[in-house]
Amino acid sequence: MAKETKVPAKPLVKVAKYEILKPERWVGGERDGENCTWPELARMLWDVQYIESRIGNLFVSEKYAEFSLMRTDSVAEFSTRKASAINRQIRQDLIADGNFSEEQLNRFSKAGALPSDVLDPFLQSVVRPTVSGKNWKDISSSNSSIPNYKKNVPVCIRCDKDYHKKIFVDDDGDHKLDLGITVGSKCRIILRTGRLDDSQKDILDKLVNPDSGWSQQTFQISYNERRNKWFLSVTYRYPPQDKKLDPDVIVGAELGFGCPIVAVANNDTHASIGPREFAPIMEQIRRLQAQTIARRNQMLRGGEDSYVKDTSRGGHGRKRRFKPVDRLQQKIDNAYKTLNHQMSRKLVDFAVEQQAGSIQMEDLSGIKDTLTGTFLGQRWRYYELQEFIKYKAKEVGIEVRLINPDYTSRRCYSCGFIHEEFTREYREENKPREGGIRLFDCPVCDAEEVDPDYNAASNLTLKDIERKIKAQCRTQGLQVKS
Ligand SMILES: [Zn+2]
Repeated sequence: MAKETKVPAKPLVKVAKYEILKPERWVGGERDGENCTWPELARMLWDVQYIESRIGNLFVSEKYAEFSLMRTDSVAEFSTRKASAINRQIRQDLIADGNFSEEQLNRFSKAGALPSDVLDPFLQSVVRPTVSGKNWKDISSSNSSIPNYKKNVPVCIRCDKDYHKKIFVDDDGDHKLDLGITVGSKCRIILRTGRLDDSQKDILDKLVNPDSGWSQQTFQISYNERRNKWFLSVTYRYPPQDKKLDPDVIVGAELGFGCPIVAVANNDTHASIGPREFAPIMEQIRRLQAQTIARRNQMLRGGEDSYVKDTSRGGHGRKRRFKPVDRLQQKIDNAYKTLNHQMSRKLVDFAVEQQAGSIQMEDLSGIKDTLTGTFLGQRWRYYELQEFIKYKAKEVGIEVRLINPDYTSRRCYSCGFIHEEFTREYREENKPREGGIRLFDCPVCDAEEVDPDYNAASNLTLKDIERKIKAQCRTQGLQVKS
């Protein structure tokens, strides 16, 4: 009987919606006993909705201007302003338009139009999903129009950090929440719980219990015009049922040529992840590489961004000239580190999803310089990626086995034949076209041509791959290192 390990899988996210029963004023830590009136609360929420819609429209128009300019090649790189810059801009606009006085805006934020705990989740969950290259294609071909935020957008508030205000139960058993929208005096709301069914009550109980493992992530307050009522939606995370790992399921992970990781599971479905799942990360790497080259050239030319004003040659001047390049390198390394965290997380999540007891990947410690031209470019970045995979796998009880990389990417998964010529250089020199991929075609069996990284990852799913390769090498008379 195989041993099974339990793993905590990724927490899941859901939304629960509750009616706001009434507001209650609460000032500076001490209740003054006087109710905040509905008109006051509604006024504040409407103000936030109006400001959010202005910010949303500005953000969207800038983003689509960027797509439009990039399409017509007017600019190579156009970056949309940061949320904080837009926040400050809207503050000035609102004052200039006479919509708000400085004093009125100061209730929400001293520097911008809204506090960042309100603005960030609004941009993140409401605006950003509408802004993508794909949407822009639909818009430019007139299949849809640029989104336009009207007054009735949800008021978003972050509540995922310890210091954020969360729903709590007071001594009378009422469920309450202090709205973290205004600076200084706060507005407390009471949720209607009298008519909740058991499952809704159960969710609330878990959300206010710090030991439940359930956690409040974001609030969205919205107005239902027909019913003339305000509602609070809570996005929350909850722990999933423990998933069992199957020691017979192995995920083979190839550090790919065309994609940083291609992984396959040896279960019935042969589930895999690869270029499709890693596309956003590959895009980030490409952009990072392009920026690096551009910035480095600019610096070495001593362009405006280079801070070397002192043009004295040799000695000191020379040394100082390379300092900004070092700083750039530091930034690049940090960016790659983040990407390595994202990639290792994706792989380990995939392995958990497949309930794999182990991950097998190539042991790269013996490899010298065959990594040029691959996604991460340098060996130590692969090494870092592998280290991240190891410790993230360990956290969930998955074993990582490092495999002798000899021939793992040259063995035909279908018949076991080793296609000796099929090296990285061979693949590079025999590409069907620039940017294309040389597929793995087995010279002896009639298996269909297959993506070489997928073929290699499939080989890595075999329990006794090293022994199989050794045996095959003897049959074909090939050298194999021990
Ligand atoms: Zn074959």
